[in-house]
Amino acid sequence: MTDGPAKPVGPDADRLPPWLARQLQNLLEQRGHALLLAGPSGLGQYDLALALARAWLCERPTAAGACGQCTSCHAVDVRTHADLLVLLPEQLALELDWPLDERTRDKIEKKEIKASKWIRVEAARAVVDFGQTTRSRGTTKVVLVYPADRLNIESANTLLKTLEEPAGNLRFVLATESAQSLLPTIRSRCQAHALAWPPEAEALAWLRAQVPGSDDASARVWLRAAGGRPADALGWAQLRLSAAQWAGLPKAVAAGDGAALAGWLPAQQLDTLQKCCHDMMAVAVGAAPRFFDAAHVPKGLAPMALQAWSKDLMTAARTVEHPFSAGLLHEAWMARARVACQGA
Ligand SMILES: [Zn+2]
Repeated sequence: MTDGPAKPVGPDADRLPPWLARQLQNLLEQRGHALLLAGPSGLGQYDLALALARAWLCERPTAAGACGQCTSCHAVDVRTHADLLVLLPEQLALELDWPLDERTRDKIEKKEIKASKWIRVEAARAVVDFGQTTRSRGTTKVVLVYPADRLNIESANTLLKTLEEPAGNLRFVLATESAQSLLPTIRSRCQAHALAWPPEAEALAWLRAQVPGSDDASARVWLRAAGGRPADALGWAQLRLSAAQWAGLPKAVAAGDGAALAGWLPAQQLDTLQKCCHDMMAVAVGAAPRFFDAAHVPKGLAPMALQAWSKDLMTAARTVEHPFSAGLLHEAWMARARVACQGA
């Protein structure tokens, strides 16, 4: 899903997971000039936004989406379509293989600036110019913004001008996991679409197709570890997380033993600690756990201590992308877990 550039193969109906293909088909019937795809991350909002842009620009679109064969589809696939403007934070553009303008790339390579996690206002200004230049190919031009919550107030206001009075056949697709943090004026200009959760069977089948040689039991563990989000589940699949490993985590974490997490990315470790903490809190107040089986979650922990731990984890999550020493973080997090779980 969001783990790399789209491959130029076949129509979108064959390429998108079935739950996204269905949504694409529905969205293609909408006439509005601006769509806002909103919902939790890991459900494929970027892929859906791109498929929509590709279908809008396609020379021979079908009800199911872009043809995947024409010059326009090819230009989208190789990231050179003159009528598609993609607004991404620079960090994400690099990750998803979208070209940055030469000056920015040069500055990042020379370490004069860091790749931004926000959509820069210069990029938002480019939308205004883009809206005014003549079209190079078909009849439509498309602006894709992802994640739309990474527009700061200045960028958002710049974008808003074009969104309010789009020139000609300019269409927008914005995607975000945090629609409530967008400017209300941006939200009100867009037709909202809530991302649909995939049925479990579809998500499992998709996962297994992505990971050759995987079995149903493993796919279930990955999906559960990801809280039902297929793209995130793929991250767990890449770690070859086993059912036994996952089941053993809450008790190990409560004892401050982080050996099972040691080789993981800090963000993955933190995510797992948050899931352990969530389920321990659920069990402590007599509710059902969400990520682990009840039998694997330590019981009788002190809710107050867990709540304080949960807060600390949230604070840590805000800074986890900063390159502190991963080893030191790991030690500190495990010590914190032990303290929280001793308060029983
Ligand atoms: Zn096409």
